[in-house]
Amino acid sequence: MELTNLTITQLHQGFKDKKFTSVEVTKAYLEQIKKTDKSIGAYLAVTESLALKQAEAADKIITSGKHFSMLCGVPCAIKDAILVDGEIATAGSKILENYVAPYDATVIKKLKTQGAVILGKTNLDEFAMGASTENSAYQVTKNPHDTTRVAGGSSGGSAAAVAAKEAVYSLGSDTGGSIRLPASFCGVVGLNPTYGSVSRYGLIAFASSLDQIGPMAKNVEDAKIVFEAIYGKDQNDATSKNYQFEESNINLKGLKIGVPKEYFSEGIDPEIEKIIKSAIQKAKDAGAKIIEISLPNTQYGVACYYIIAPCEASANLARFDGIKYGFSETADNLLGVYLQSRGRGFGAEPKRRIMLGTYALSSGYYDAYYKKAQQVRELIKEDFTQAFKKVDVIFSPVSPFAAFKVGEKANDPLSMYLVDVYTVAVKLAGIPALSLPAGKIGKLPVGLQIIGNYFEENKILSIASQLEQLF
Ligand code: GLN
Repeated sequence: MELTNLTITQLHQGFKDKKFTSVEVTKAYLEQIKKTDKSIGAYLAVTESLALKQAEAADKIITSGKHFSMLCGVPCAIKDAILVDGEIATAGSKILENYVAPYDATVIKKLKTQGAVILGKTNLDEFAMGASTENSAYQVTKNPHDTTRVAGGSSGGSAAAVAAKEAVYSLGSDTGGSIRLPASFCGVVGLNPTYGSVSRYGLIAFASSLDQIGPMAKNVEDAKIVFEAIYGKDQNDATSKNYQFEESNINLKGLKIGVPKEYFSEGIDPEIEKIIKSAIQKAKDAGAKIIEISLPNTQYGVACYYIIAPCEASANLARFDGIKYGFSETADNLLGVYLQSRGRGFGAEPKRRIMLGTYALSSGYYDAYYKKAQQVRELIKEDFTQAFKKVDVIFSPVSPFAAFKVGEKANDPLSMYLVDVYTVAVKLAGIPALSLPAGKIGKLPVGLQIIGNYFEENKILSIASQLEQLF
């Protein structure tokens, strides 16, 4: 039996039946990382001693005969923007080189309570700014299906780790598409939860009104197990909401699926369109009703997002001044320290966003850019509110094309921003969405995006697991 092929549920059963131990599974994963990660580059740090310690502790719980949770003893990978006490947390930036997290993010605390095993910290675009993981200050993560191509971003390391069997599941974060896009490119399941359903405490902030942590996994059931372990109200995150996840028994039969007419316009690869339309047809064959809807303001999504996200980023990144955290340059005076540390510590993309953001927030331009973008954000939200009066869920592509070549868009920020065309509107509205592997172009996976209404992760997950059987 190949241990690295097993899902969370299979591992849990295997632990119960004493077929293998968590230490054995953990060692199999550490071995796999040693074997394959040189060519993939999913991990920035492998936390081997932590993992083995946690695996031993999990085995004690398992062999004690007491009840143990689904994630107990199951090895996972964590995006390097999420704090794990005592481990590095670079957020993919040189400015946080050697920064060691002084506490656990709430999601990590929750995973640890369940007995999780943490294999390491995964690569990302610097401060999660990007769509290919090429903006990391450290390395480029390659797509396990074709190593000449990108893994998607910004949670490229987390997606590639699962796809390359270097972790059972992982945590990523999604601000404008960063869970769904790499999930789609790497052929794994990725869930962007409703804004407020998962605590952001201990996630290095990019754009606080958009950032959300979520699971990436081998299948829908695993993603659901992880989501159930990490969601919930947290007193350390005032935007987290108190709500109860309940199993949904929604069925494909009679399900009303909205398909936005604006989402199949020019720019989409015809092969992607074919896969998404065939996925929709399969849902229809299973009894779903397909309803054409309109999301007319989505066309402003990218423009609106690339004002709001940099504005928030410019404020969030102000704390990295060379004094309080990580990388610091010496200079004759305090201003010099700031300028030198920030100038050398930040890469090109964060600098670009800091400049865009501070410009859009400056007194002469605030009304024209930031305020206008906030108004457009309301219109985008309203589009979805209207749509969900008519349909249960919305289907769309995750990306207009499959994984592109390493280097293809790296020097063209605008074309990199356009990769987000199908993912940002969801974030501006704050609703949940999942990427489900729906087919392949050659060897490259393609994800279907299933979008739900606020706090309807349960519906999305239920529909996704029914579709998973059909694809
Ligand atoms: N590609 C988008 C950006 O660069 C989204 C990133 C994300 O979701 N973290 O901002």
